[in-house]
Amino acid sequence: MTPRVLNFGAGPSALPESVLKQAGEGLLDFQDTGIGIAEISHRSNEFKTYLQGVESDIKKLLKVPDSHAILFTQGGGSAQFSAVVLNMLARHHELYPALEPQQRVMDYIITGSWSDKAAKEARRLGGGTVNVVVDSRKLSTQEKFDNIPSHKNDTYKFSRNPVLIYYCANETVDGVEFSREEGNGTSFPFHLLPEHAPLVADYSSSFMSHPIPRLQDHAIIYAGVQKNLGPAGLTVLIVRKDCIVDVDKATQNGALPVPLCTAYQTLAKHHSLYNTPPVLSIYITGLVLRKMIQDFGEDALEKYAALSANKSAKVYDALKKGEQNSVFKSKVRDDSGSQMNVVFDVVGEDKLNQFIAGAEALNMKGLLGHRSVGGVRVSLYNAVTEDQVQTLVDYMTKFSEGKSVP
Ligand code: PMP
Repeated sequence: MTPRVLNFGAGPSALPESVLKQAGEGLLDFQDTGIGIAEISHRSNEFKTYLQGVESDIKKLLKVPDSHAILFTQGGGSAQFSAVVLNMLARHHELYPALEPQQRVMDYIITGSWSDKAAKEARRLGGGTVNVVVDSRKLSTQEKFDNIPSHKNDTYKFSRNPVLIYYCANETVDGVEFSREEGNGTSFPFHLLPEHAPLVADYSSSFMSHPIPRLQDHAIIYAGVQKNLGPAGLTVLIVRKDCIVDVDKATQNGALPVPLCTAYQTLAKHHSLYNTPPVLSIYITGLVLRKMIQDFGEDALEKYAALSANKSAKVYDALKKGEQNSVFKSKVRDDSGSQMNVVFDVVGEDKLNQFIAGAEALNMKGLLGHRSVGGVRVSLYNAVTEDQVQTLVDYMTKFSEGKSVP
């Protein structure tokens, strides 16, 4: 077999090799049933029990309180751009039936292209109005998503009784751990939120790479699994139970209709089995979760957070040396760097191509930046090992010293 590459891709991304081998066996025989996981009925007791196990492992690892339900759906993070709006508008109608659409304000914190897309979808759907709480491009000298808005100077303009307050946890260019630490002035401004704020977070890029700060204070958290957990197809939702509302009743009262499979009510009522779920993606996600718990116990997310801090620190160090040699240039400000995705340019004509070609010669793949942003993007998801990072860092160091690389 061709040796496996060192995969620094942004998603779908690296998965643990041992899990992939196990999954291969499960494709032929799921838990000694004699049927493969892609063939077995999603209504079989074996699969239903498996799904409950996945839910319970997520609950354990993220310490999800009983106030919140864990739901599984499809359509990726992008489908949630619409679903969160429709479900939360329905809730707002339930709470405040008499308001006009212009009084139903959805607050968006725009710190990168994903939250920007989400805000555009809210505007497209209508039924309420969008208030941009802050747009980090306006705080950039180059009108770019290269910074996390600081808590100073009244930067965040929240509205008084919003339908939702939306943010993307891992953004700016495409990746700052906006939500990661509190109190450093560039993290999520929890302390500025209006009371009882219905907080909605897109955790697609960093889900299960660290504990979620203030999870219990969120109305909705959602994430596609294709970064740290499994193959694309499954979206995990953590929804505070009061946000699972009777959408049809809300529609009778003037709210936008909510497509059945988009309504959290449908997912909750049918234990995420209203229609056929993405069984293979659920299966592999379950294997990865088991491995996380087996390797590091129920506090595994603390361990992954430490690992990812370590891995990214090494890459940032190599980036800094490259900057001193005028070979690399970071795409984000010093205090806005992501631990999941390190993004930088390679200075000089054709140097990016040289850098990528040299990396590929060493079997490192997935390093080319997002098509809209360019440059290099190093994604450091959970399955990327410290040894693999060391190989990359050695290569970056040699490249920036102008030493001969393959
Ligand atoms: N939000 C974020 C933060 C993402 O990183 C992505 C995709 N990588 C998406 C949303 C879109 O997710 P999907 O492709 O699953 O629709």
